[in-house]
Amino acid sequence: MSETRPRKALIIGAGPVGALTALSLHRRGWQVELWESRDDPRGKDAAPSNLRSINLAISARGLEALRSVDPSLAEQFQNEAIPMKGRMIHHVDGKQESQIYDPINGQCINSIGRPLLNQRLVESLPSEIKIRFQTKLSKLDLNDKIAFGESVEKKSDVVVVGEEHDDGKIGGEGKGNTDNASNKKGKGKQSMKEDNEPTKFDLIIGCDGSWSKVRNSMMRMERIDFSRSFIPHAYIELHMPADPTKPGGYAIDKNHLHIWPRHSFMLIGLPNKDGSFTLTLFLPFSSLSTITTREAASRFFHEHFPSAIQIVGEKKLLDDFENNPRGNLVTINCTPSAWSSHALLLGDASHSMVPFYGQGLNCGLEDVRVLNSVLEKHKISATTSLELGETDTELELALKAYSVERQADLQAICELALQNYTEMRSHVLSPFHHFRRLLDSV
Ligand code: FAD
Repeated sequence: MSETRPRKALIIGAGPVGALTALSLHRRGWQVELWESRDDPRGKDAAPSNLRSINLAISARGLEALRSVDPSLAEQFQNEAIPMKGRMIHHVDGKQESQIYDPINGQCINSIGRPLLNQRLVESLPSEIKIRFQTKLSKLDLNDKIAFGESVEKKSDVVVVGEEHDDGKIGGEGKGNTDNASNKKGKGKQSMKEDNEPTKFDLIIGCDGSWSKVRNSMMRMERIDFSRSFIPHAYIELHMPADPTKPGGYAIDKNHLHIWPRHSFMLIGLPNKDGSFTLTLFLPFSSLSTITTREAASRFFHEHFPSAIQIVGEKKLLDDFENNPRGNLVTINCTPSAWSSHALLLGDASHSMVPFYGQGLNCGLEDVRVLNSVLEKHKISATTSLELGETDTELELALKAYSVERQADLQAICELALQNYTEMRSHVLSPFHHFRRLLDSV
């Protein structure tokens, strides 16, 4: 009988989904290698004002997934996150209206910065996992299960979710990165050096986000149904600093998700631990293109968001508006999400959704939980006696089962996210809306 050895997973992308996948497979006894094109986030300051990136609402779905890998992780994030028990609607006249999500059972969603969440997950990875930062997947041979990386010598310090790599360029830039016309912050210069040595694997897992290179390679091997659609809105991140005169620094209520709904556009605000709020403006690109001067931007904010000007200060709000990137918002569906026993997609690489249901990351983390349960059900052991490069029929069946099990749920949640797009910016203003929600929760 041939000797057994641990199964080897090569994971591309150390975003939140890649990091949790690495931890989970390591705990199952697999040999794990993780490549990330960005810098090592460990030990860095992930405070909201230092790294521009979105705030996430982590929900029961995401917490359950974290718990399934390591209960202490879920506990840690719950301690670091801020519970939001409802929406606070900010009307144009300055009136605020609280709409509690679950008045009966008090369920909440929880605000946490993506950089902090990502950093904590990467910090939780044990030293047995080989992590290569500043390493970008450059070439992939799925048939022979061989990958090549290239080292990225300098990356931008700006972290924007869904940043595209080579294949995702839309006229030079893409989702989650910048609008070509209005981005004032260039990326840091990069120089690449390709590996000479191939890296072999049993299974490559693409956790490389919306512009996944692993997915591109899979699509050359298999008839994969793939769709991608953009909504007309851009997102721009703004920052509401802490107010030292207020308790905890919170200028507005800390335990709400704040929404300034204006029908065809909206501003939202999620709390940070330091008393600041991360604000996100969602506005159609067509409207953005009409705001071409600082004066026009000032008129826009005075007309639609006077209370935000009052709290943040006009200069700060306009500086952020002018300087921060314009991100695209995209829905991606990809089925199946596995190819043979060789490749699998998790997280945004397999399903990107617009952020209005606050479930993109939660679903990505849930992918890891479901994958674990499928590996368990199919009794996929941590070791194999196959040679590296051979097809693993047991694993192939398990990955197929995973893909089938996830398909309907993922399509449904992408659809719900799109529906909540109109709900948040418009329906929440209806006087009957809150009454209906209250009835729904009984
Ligand atoms: P990503 O976070 O995109 O990470 C992918 C990683 O792969 C990156 O680190 C990247 O550098 C790396 N990478 C890419 N290509 C390569 C390569 N070739 N080689 C090596 N590394 C590579 N979700 C929620 O659940 N709740 C929310 O409230 C929420 N709010 C959001 C608000 C906004 C404005 C946006 C845009 C998204 C929001 N989301 C939310 C969605 C959430 O941010 C994403 O679903 C989540 O970040 C996906 O995680 P991921 O690990 O799959 O991918």
